[in-house]
Amino acid sequence: MTDTAYPHLLAPLDLGFTTLKNRVLMGSMHTGLEETKDWPRVAAFYAERARGGVALIVTGGMAPNKEGGVFPGAAGLFTDRDVANHKVVTDAVHEADGKIAMQILHAGRYAYSPDCVGPSPVKSPISPFPPRELDEDGIEKQIGDMVVAAQRARQAGYDGVEIMGSEGYFLNQFLVTHTNKRTDRWGGSYENRMRLPVEVVRRVRQAVGDDFIIIYRLSMIDLVPGGSTHDEVVQLAQAVEAAGATILNTGIGWHEARIPTIATSVPRKGFAWVTKKLMGKVGIPVITSNRINMPDVAEEVLAEGCADMVSMARPFLADAHFVQKAAEGRADEIAPCIACNQACLDHTFSGKLTSCLVNPRACHETELRYEPSSTPKRIAIVGAGAAGMAAAMVAAERGHRVVLFDKSGQVGGQLNMAKEVPGKEEFVGLVDWFATMMARRQIDLRLGHAPEVADLLGFDEVIVATGVRPRDPGIKGQDGPNVLSYIDVLAGKAQVGRRVAIIGAGGIGFDVAEYLSHDGESLTGNPDLWRKEWGVADPQAHRGGLAPEGPQPHPSPREIVLLQRKAEKPGKRLGKTTGWIHRASLKMKGVKMVTGVTYEKIDADGLHVSFGESRDNPALIAVDTVVLCAGQVVERSLADQLAEAGITAHVIGGADVAAELDAKRAIDQGSRLAAAL
Ligand code: NAP
Ligand code: SF4
Repeated sequence: MTDTAYPHLLAPLDLGFTTLKNRVLMGSMHTGLEETKDWPRVAAFYAERARGGVALIVTGGMAPNKEGGVFPGAAGLFTDRDVANHKVVTDAVHEADGKIAMQILHAGRYAYSPDCVGPSPVKSPISPFPPRELDEDGIEKQIGDMVVAAQRARQAGYDGVEIMGSEGYFLNQFLVTHTNKRTDRWGGSYENRMRLPVEVVRRVRQAVGDDFIIIYRLSMIDLVPGGSTHDEVVQLAQAVEAAGATILNTGIGWHEARIPTIATSVPRKGFAWVTKKLMGKVGIPVITSNRINMPDVAEEVLAEGCADMVSMARPFLADAHFVQKAAEGRADEIAPCIACNQACLDHTFSGKLTSCLVNPRACHETELRYEPSSTPKRIAIVGAGAAGMAAAMVAAERGHRVVLFDKSGQVGGQLNMAKEVPGKEEFVGLVDWFATMMARRQIDLRLGHAPEVADLLGFDEVIVATGVRPRDPGIKGQDGPNVLSYIDVLAGKAQVGRRVAIIGAGGIGFDVAEYLSHDGESLTGNPDLWRKEWGVADPQAHRGGLAPEGPQPHPSPREIVLLQRKAEKPGKRLGKTTGWIHRASLKMKGVKMVTGVTYEKIDADGLHVSFGESRDNPALIAVDTVVLCAGQVVERSLADQLAEAGITAHVIGGADVAAELDAKRAIDQGSRLAAAL
């Protein structure tokens, strides 16, 4: 192991009664798989990650009882049948030489149910249901149910449990005076408020014996008003250790916090400093987490002494073989998690099964398989954007011979625009990964080449992935010198004035606003400035880690107005878990959002609009530059020419359906097509 680039990451961790083979924990994610009750499928998901070398997996949160479930019907180990079903999963993980712990998640007032319970009847801002205040017996029942959940986990073959004490869930709610107004022995002083989490750990340890892993997930920085101080965090950590925890894991921010904690614009390893503050103050291993997505980042965190182990969750959706590839010196082959949330958390919060934008096989292991082809074909793919590259990669993996054309001189298509947007730097790594993998899979790349029909004769299959072109909004005066397309802006080719109107408040309108409201380096690369921008402070100095002066955003170099015709809230169709961040970020930069407009004309004075059906209340938005971000239409001239020539082609990605195209749909469609050829 001495010749590895990741000596800290790959070092084993001796827990006394058992040893973890490296320092990587796959953090808990609610995938929705357990709720499908398709246990072989659940087992396939976890076993593939165990085969990929991760030392310890934590499952998605399992409810200890009905009232503690995140939503009605949330999975848990309630019956012997449930225990037998989970055994299918733990057996598969053990066969793959892995270890797995079950997370016990009591949601408290975050439960999306009128039956939810909590320390006090204080409704959460992210739930419509006020919790029922528990009495003494009610609290005892919750403890008992968590203990039974841990015992059942042991019966089901789990190597341990993770007790979820962070993110503002039930146990966390007892710690903070804002949610705990009790005056009995479970409220009041900090000692009383921390009684419940400590008692749960103590009784779980008593029930499961000494040789069973108990991870306690502790909120190290709450990021909510009245949140814990660092001294309280240390006091709790030490008490939880004394009560029998084996490992402490880090939680960052309550779900209701208005500071991003895992989004792509959060600096990499952006919260490891918080965990580091606990190092040396407890005797058990400490895990850090949040925005650690590559082995070099993880190695740095450990080498800097921020923690004993790292937790990564979403990176294991993007690539099940993360650890194995790192250990084999193939880190450049790891499919990067770009922290977009588009196919994971956004799915979870829409009640859909989790997957991954980068890896559509995630949680679909049994159904989407990339088997070697029995009849290798010659396949031409036109367009090296997300859809075309994904199709090329999967086809080549299956043994097909692939020629990939693109008229531009680089691969990546629209992904190359995304990577220019401050806070979206992870797209750089994604395009690089595609380029690396296409080279390894010996895809014949013909860049700077727009093939004609004649060039595509003689292939067994032709795939058209020619993407999209900007929609023409047909506004009077749009050909003027003060009007630009988003393509020119994001390519950095155009001079943009100080006062800007952006036509279209979709994903690209927001991206352009973000791009134009920043100057200097991206905050994602500067953690100090990022913390200042969002108002994050040291919890040792300020309760909850909130800066008393609040967010201090760097001012925008431009006055920006973002417009749309629809009357709905701008950005409503952005990602469910990230839209609020984009809106908050632009608001902090003073970007004005105007809805329900009709575009009348553009002239040297700026953009003329009107409102309402009668259009009798015209207004001038005086700007120097107007940027068109009015969506896209399909680019399928090649597909039409092929059809005319009688050649059947598969049309994928934006060339298939342009409306609301994103990389998730493009990669999924390209991969699925190539899996079937
Ligand atoms: P989009 O999301 O479809 O938005 C197009 C915008 O143009 C809308 O605001 C629409 O609003 C406006 N529009 C449509 N037709 C128009 C017309 N004829 N004249 C004037 N305005 C018109 O498209 P996009 O912004 O180009 O984004 C493309 C895709 O990439 C989307 O799926 C998007 O989600 C994805 N993307 C996402 C992100 C992100 O999540 N952060 C970032 C970039 C791209 P009105 O019709 O109300 O005027
Ligand atoms: Fe990461 Fe995005 Fe995949 Fe989620 S969907 S795992 S955030 S790349």
